[in-house]
Amino acid sequence: TIGMLALDAKGNLSGACTTSGMAFKMHGRVGDSPIIGAGLYVDNEIGAATSTGVGEEVVRTVGSFLVVELMRQGYSPEDACKEAVERIIRKKPQKAKEIQVGFLAINKNGQYGAYALQKGFSFAVCNEETQDLLIKGKSIF
Ligand code: ASP
Repeated sequence: TIGMLALDAKGNLSGACTTSGMAFKMHGRVGDSPIIGAGLYVDNEIGAATSTGVGEEVVRTVGSFLVVELMRQGYSPEDACKEAVERIIRKKPQKAKEIQVGFLAINKNGQYGAYALQKGFSFAVCNEETQDLLIKGKSIF
């Protein structure tokens, strides 16, 4: 999945995500990416979030909506992403080593963060100071 979150010069948030889905997926499978609240969620009052990884797990936790709601409660973008990942593994601890899920988030103040279950999740930031900064995302494992 490629998820993009933006905060424009007027302070408005937007987001988009696209995916080819999972390899060897069942015909007709719908992943998390086209489902608002799962693969992407933007609330212009609070922040925006997007996800990658096994869509079924993200759909079950309404993951991107969860991340935005956690930011509404005061979580930083990174902590909100981490809590969403942890919630997924709390429900399915036996899958923790087998699957990947990751979230990326930005809040209304322009703070951003990401967290994944497995390592290897990176994201790019582009703003006035950082032209194309590639950041290695934090992960549980
Ligand atoms: N989230 C996507 C899906 O489940 C897979 C991906 O990360 O590309 O369809």
